[in-house]
Amino acid sequence: MQSVFNDIKSLFFRPLCPVCGRPMGEGDYFVCSKCRWEAPLTGFQNRVDNPVVQRFWGTVKVVNGCAFMYFVHNSGWRRLIHEFKYHGRWREAMMAGEWFGGELARSPLYGDVDLLVPIPLHPRKLLSRTYNQAEYLALGMGRSMGLKVDSHSVVRKVYNKSQALRPHHERWENVKDIFRVTHPERLSGRHILLVDDVLTTGATIGSCAEAIEQAVPDCRISIACFATAFDPLS
Ligand SMILES: [Zn+2]
Repeated sequence: MQSVFNDIKSLFFRPLCPVCGRPMGEGDYFVCSKCRWEAPLTGFQNRVDNPVVQRFWGTVKVVNGCAFMYFVHNSGWRRLIHEFKYHGRWREAMMAGEWFGGELARSPLYGDVDLLVPIPLHPRKLLSRTYNQAEYLALGMGRSMGLKVDSHSVVRKVYNKSQALRPHHERWENVKDIFRVTHPERLSGRHILLVDDVLTTGATIGSCAEAIEQAVPDCRISIACFATAFDPLS
């Protein structure tokens, strides 16, 4: 009787997949197996030359760079990635990071990374949002890669409004010189992986890399974003 009750309970109380909204199968973790299988993955983490690396040509020196999946508009994945940031879904951001980090750990290109550094939010924004989604992504990645996350050595010193509605050239201007390295000694001589949720123009993450490059010349920098548009050059 108890087991029938448990079966009925698990049927009704099974967690829902945050991408498609259907009940998760037994053994599913983070998303259902169908959504995991059909996820629009880029495979960039296994390619030295890819559109994310190309994005930074002529700006900052990047050892390796990748985005885990394509940002497909009107998709369940797009909704979920948006919710990492605005709807308190930091647990999902962390689980997404675990998946991403597992793939990076299998890639030959990220084996000598020493430390994960999430792109920081301005303290005022952190206060109103209560958490930094990039930090939770990085924490999940760190779990799978066996690496620590450093959220304190780089800070955002300028509070700027959302980048989304600005034209391309303005976005680069808007984020110039907005980061500061507060503990260069912690990054010195290390290979760090800068982590962010979405890569659009690359202006924000590029500006952060530039600040680190200037303050810590012997720090090697790679970049990992969870999602990117199909053509990040546009
Ligand atoms: Zn699903």
